[in-house]
Amino acid sequence: MYKQIFIEHAKLLKALANPKRLEIIQLLRDQELSVGQIQEMLDLPQANLSQHLQVLRQAQVVTARKEGKNIYYKIAHSNFLHASDLIREILIKRHQNDDLADELVLKMSDLVPLTHDPVCGMRLSPKTAAFALKRKSQTYYFCAEGCLKKFKTQPDRYLKSKQK
Ligand SMILES: [Zn+2]
Repeated sequence: MYKQIFIEHAKLLKALANPKRLEIIQLLRDQELSVGQIQEMLDLPQANLSQHLQVLRQAQVVTARKEGKNIYYKIAHSNFLHASDLIREILIKRHQNDDLADELVLKMSDLVPLTHDPVCGMRLSPKTAAFALKRKSQTYYFCAEGCLKKFKTQPDRYLKSKQK
């Protein structure tokens, strides 16, 4: 048993050992998402994404639920998020003194009140946001590259729909 757990631990880490898969885990932090939603957030080809989800599912990191035509994914156990956060904290600290691109102001270790990704509506804090963008003295946070890209192309579209 003692040895067996190390073997399983190594196997699990192998399933996690991919930047996109680690990003998917962050996106599923507080919510269940459909394949289509994840695809838009990540701006990733569907075939590619399906493969990643398959690996995560086989490793029982995520669970899937079918509803109509859609398959929804969620994190199987919150410890996967805790483990990911702990490692990310170490890595983010290592970058604390780096220069960041002008428009990307991101202190991921800061915790401020929750906000929403203006594009997909995902609940975010600066700690969990992938990107931040300053525009007219306001900072907007984004779940991943797909949403940031969309916002940059048509910011007015998303700012309008936000003020319902
Ligand atoms: Zn988003």
